Amino acid sequence: MQLYGALGTVGAPLIKYPTMTLTLPIDIDAVKGFLSQAEGEALYETVLRCKGRAPALEIGSYCGKSTVYLGLACQATERTLLALDHHRGSEEHQPGELFHDPELTDASGAVDTLTSFRRTMTAAGLDDTVIPVLASSAQFAATWSGDLSLVFIDGGHSLDAALADYRGWASRIERSGYLAIHDVYPPPETGGQAPITVYRLALASGLFREVMAVDSLRVLQRI
Ligand code: MG
Repeated sequence: MQLYGALGTVGAPLIKYPTMTLTLPIDIDAVKGFLSQAEGEALYETVLRCKGRAPALEIGSYCGKSTVYLGLACQATERTLLALDHHRGSEEHQPGELFHDPELTDASGAVDTLTSFRRTMTAAGLDDTVIPVLASSAQFAATWSGDLSLVFIDGGHSLDAALADYRGWASRIERSGYLAIHDVYPPPETGGQAPITVYRLALASGLFREVMAVDSLRVLQRI
């Protein structure tokens, strides 16, 4: 586990990595996904720090692993989690691609993560907290307005998709709210560069400061 990346804004106070022991209502390792336990606990901790009751938004839910951490924290703080995903998989999940999972397809062979996602939410007791939004990020951004306490970007990893997520949603984050970005890999050989491009854009905007870095997760706070 890597704590506090070297990319923090100079002078910005970092949130200490959570020391609480989080007990989950399900076996999280049985949920397919690409989030480490440390990243999940960091997301949980970040939601606990949100002020007010504005909903949180997750972009890219897949089978619900990160949704469990975010959702449990939303449940504890009496807020709603909007879990946005068309559930047809990102580019890398399509048949023939590196992260394709034949178990996550419908009868026609198309990627379908919705069934698995709903099973996870029900098992974790989150059906009353999480509102699944079956749409693309751009579709939903064009039809839904309102402040958000937290936005977690973990959707498509093409540059176009990541930029659309940032441009469509970062401005909805309320003051002192949080922008969390997954899969931030500084060396290009360790991962795709779209998430880190968004991360750098957010810092360069002057609207956010980095407050936490755990594995490939970066958490920024709206100034
Ligand atoms: Mg991810």
